[in-house]
Amino acid sequence: MIEKQHIIDRFISYVTIDTESDPNSETTPSTEKQWNLAHALVKELTAIGMKEVSIDQNAYIMATLPSNVDHKVPVIGFVSHFDTSPDFTGANVKPQIIENYDGKDIILNAEEDIILSPDLFDDLLQYKGQTLITTDGNTLLGADDKAGITEIVSAMEYLIKHPEIKHGEIRIGFTPDEEIGRGAHKFDVEKFGAEWAYTMDGSQIGELEYENFNAAGATVKIKGKIVHPGYAKGKLINSMYIATEFINSLPMLETPEHTEDYQGFFHLAGMQGSVEETVLKYIIRDHDENHFKARKEAMRQLTFDLNTQYEREVVTIEIKDQYFNMKEKIEPVMHIVDIAEEAMMALNIKPIIKPIRGGTDGSQLSYMGLPCPNIFAGGHNFHGRYEYVPVESMIKATAVICKIAELVALKK
Ligand SMILES: [Zn+2]
Repeated sequence: MIEKQHIIDRFISYVTIDTESDPNSETTPSTEKQWNLAHALVKELTAIGMKEVSIDQNAYIMATLPSNVDHKVPVIGFVSHFDTSPDFTGANVKPQIIENYDGKDIILNAEEDIILSPDLFDDLLQYKGQTLITTDGNTLLGADDKAGITEIVSAMEYLIKHPEIKHGEIRIGFTPDEEIGRGAHKFDVEKFGAEWAYTMDGSQIGELEYENFNAAGATVKIKGKIVHPGYAKGKLINSMYIATEFINSLPMLETPEHTEDYQGFFHLAGMQGSVEETVLKYIIRDHDENHFKARKEAMRQLTFDLNTQYEREVVTIEIKDQYFNMKEKIEPVMHIVDIAEEAMMALNIKPIIKPIRGGTDGSQLSYMGLPCPNIFAGGHNFHGRYEYVPVESMIKATAVICKIAELVALKK
C-alpha cells in the first residue's frame, strides 16, 4: 500500500516552503514566494512520470496521467491549492511528528506554554494510536492545502507504479491564492479539459461536500451632518446613530454566532464611524437561493425605509455577489458525488456529507463549467497554530483518489 514515511517526507517538503498569499496584492500569484513551491512541484510531477506538465504565467499547474484502458472513460480531475492563509504566518514552519498519539495533551511549545489539547479540540481523540503532524506553536502548518497536494501527487505516483489498476485519463491542477478567494479566477477550465473534478481541500476524514453558501458583500454608507455641538440643536445629524438603527433593524439572531447547518446570516464584519459618515461592511450568507435573495432585498428595503423616514438620502447600499452554492451545478450530475461516496465506503471510510458554511474553489469552478465537489484532505484547525494532520488520513485520502479513478473506469 501507500508508504507512510514517503507521505510524511513529501508533506514536510511542501510545508517547509513558505507560500503565504496576500489579499492586498494585485498580482497572480499574490506573493512571489509561491513560485518556489510551484517550480518544485513542476519538477516533481515530471520526475514521477506525469505527462503534459505545464505551468502558466500565473503559476497554475496542470498535468495529465494518461488512460491505461482501451474503452472510453470520462476525463476527471483533482485540484488543490499551494498557498497558505494570510491569517497566520507560514514562514519557518517546523513540523513536529507525534507517533502513536496517546490521546493526551501535545506540547507544541514548552517555552511559551502552547498546548494542543483534546480538552479544547476533542477531534484529536479519534486519532489515538495514529501519527500526527503538528506545528511548533509559532506558525500554521499548511495542511490546508499541502495535504491535498501531497495526496494528489502520491496517488498519481501510486497509479503510475501500479499499472494493474485500470483508470481513464486523470488531470490534476494546483492553484495559487485560494486563501484570498482567487484560486479559481485564472483557472483555465477549457485547457484542464475534465468532465468533472474534486478539490482535495476538506478537513476531517470522510468529509464530502457539494453544497456551500451563496455569498454577497454589502457596503452601507450613512451620511450625517456635522455642526458645532454647542449650536447643533435641530441641525446635527449623527450618522453613527442612524447606523445603529440600521444594525438593530436586521434580525439579531441571524448572525454567525447564532446559526449553524443550513441557517443563513447577516454578518457585520466591519464598522467605521464619525458624525459625518459611517460605513458598515456586511457579508450575507445563505445556502438557499431564495433566502439569499430575500436577505439582499431586506437590506435594500431597510435602506429605502430609513431614507423615507429621514426624508433624504442618508443611506446608500452597494451589494456585490461573491460566490454561489455549487449544489445548483452538482445536483444535475449527482453521480460524481455518488462515486466519491462509493470510493470511501469501499475503503471503510464513513462519508460525512454536510453543507459547507463557506465557499471553496470548487464552487467557483462549478459555475465556470467544471462541476467540483470537495473531498477531505485530513487536516484540522486550519489557519492557525493548532493546525494538525493525521498521516493516516492523508494515506486514506490518497487511496480515495486512486479508488475514484478506478471506479470511473469501471462505469460504462
Ligand atoms: Zn484550503
